[in-house]
Amino acid sequence: MSQLKVYNSLSREKEVFQSITPGYVGLYVCGPTVSGESHLGHARPYITFDVVNRYLQHQGYKVRYVRNITDAGHFEEEGKAAEDKISTKAKLEKLEPMELVQKYTNLFHWGMKAFNTLDPNIEPTATGHIVEQIEMIKKILEDGYAYEANGSIYFDVEKYNTDFSKKNLPYGILSGRVLDEQEASSRELANQDEKRNKSDFALWKKAPPEHLMRWASPWGEGFPGWHIECSAMSTKYLGEQFDIHGGGMDLQFPHHECEIAQSVVCNHKMPARYWMHNNMITINGRKMGKSYNNVIKLTELFSGNHPELEQPYHPMVIRFFILQTQYRSTLDFSNEALQAAEKGLRRLWEGYETLQNLPETSNTEATDAELDAKVRQLITDFDTFMNDDLNTARVLANMFELVPIINGIKGGQVAADALSTQTFALLKTQMATYIEDILGLQSLEDNRNEKLNAIIEMLMRMRKEAKQNKDYVTSDRIRNELSALGVLLKDEKNGEMSYSFA
Ligand code: ZN
Repeated sequence: MSQLKVYNSLSREKEVFQSITPGYVGLYVCGPTVSGESHLGHARPYITFDVVNRYLQHQGYKVRYVRNITDAGHFEEEGKAAEDKISTKAKLEKLEPMELVQKYTNLFHWGMKAFNTLDPNIEPTATGHIVEQIEMIKKILEDGYAYEANGSIYFDVEKYNTDFSKKNLPYGILSGRVLDEQEASSRELANQDEKRNKSDFALWKKAPPEHLMRWASPWGEGFPGWHIECSAMSTKYLGEQFDIHGGGMDLQFPHHECEIAQSVVCNHKMPARYWMHNNMITINGRKMGKSYNNVIKLTELFSGNHPELEQPYHPMVIRFFILQTQYRSTLDFSNEALQAAEKGLRRLWEGYETLQNLPETSNTEATDAELDAKVRQLITDFDTFMNDDLNTARVLANMFELVPIINGIKGGQVAADALSTQTFALLKTQMATYIEDILGLQSLEDNRNEKLNAIIEMLMRMRKEAKQNKDYVTSDRIRNELSALGVLLKDEKNGEMSYSFA
């Protein structure tokens, strides 16, 4: 069998994956900033790295998947909203920062569950690791790669670059940017004048008096910078060097570049061996962003309540749609594409269910050797494609070649004994393993049927109560209206009710 290769952004090529400790993988993925509702932009990285996690487990690795929650630091917008309220409102009415953080963390978890992503093994929060971040900042200061300015601490990028370029760990090693370019493109920040150079970044920010989230530090009250939390938490839970660091391409610079610099100063080594980045999502060919007014929240996506959407989309349709493209390719969202994905997932699932219900055969020899060989190749290639930098797109394409064969067996166009018993069994198990365990797909129907059953049962209970109260107008109305919808209620002898579809 082929070996797993992943594209390493650091070397800019596909490399054979070898874990540092045989049998174990440390995986760190940058989590969400919970200062607002999760949106479509969160779907791709977390579904992508969910499949990475699932596939590594399928390969027999014990994975420690760490995904942080950014709940401290850069809360400018929310901070302002909260601050405005402080002065005018009573204590209970004012929005506690942790209240916001909890609300959006819960919403994020709800979205991730809907996408059927596996929970990370550790989900550390930035606010829960202030001590570790302060320790790390102290070390960087002691080693001379940071400086204090008016109660804030900044990382000295130029000094770092001068010293560590000699050790082949220059600033820019991951993104390939050189320092001059970075300075020109770095965004203007508040208190820019405190920094010696534009590319320097904050490790610790002094909290202005109105800032609600604040912690004591050797430099006065303040809050940590964004980059330092990932360095502190990945080191704490995965060690000074771990296997895979993942995230969206947009995090490569400056976030991951800064993480590397911080960790290199503290631990003298590259924090992760493989850096994996998923490509971004565009919407109708345009970048997603507040300025385009096309940021679609997950709640809007699942309800269809957004000007860009023609209908609601089931979370599984989104998951399937994302996996139909290899994670390093660009992916454009449009109603047409999503509707096509919905049809595709239905077709795949029907084929999968048909396969599960096909009777076992007992012929050791295939009567159609050519078809048997073709099916074997299509199944074997699942592993081949996944090992080629997790090409879920090609795995799904193969599945769509298998579906007509499965349907053919059911419909009689393909002989029931065309495949050998062995090939048939392999087809069944590999389809189940890949569809459910590795790609993490679920049926679009199950959930809806469950809900429908629950609703009918609720109406039956209401009808029973109405009858008990001798409210025959209501009880008849429930029966008749359900009947008009094709749901037939039947009174059983024991006083219970049952129903069937007309
Ligand atoms: Zn991060």
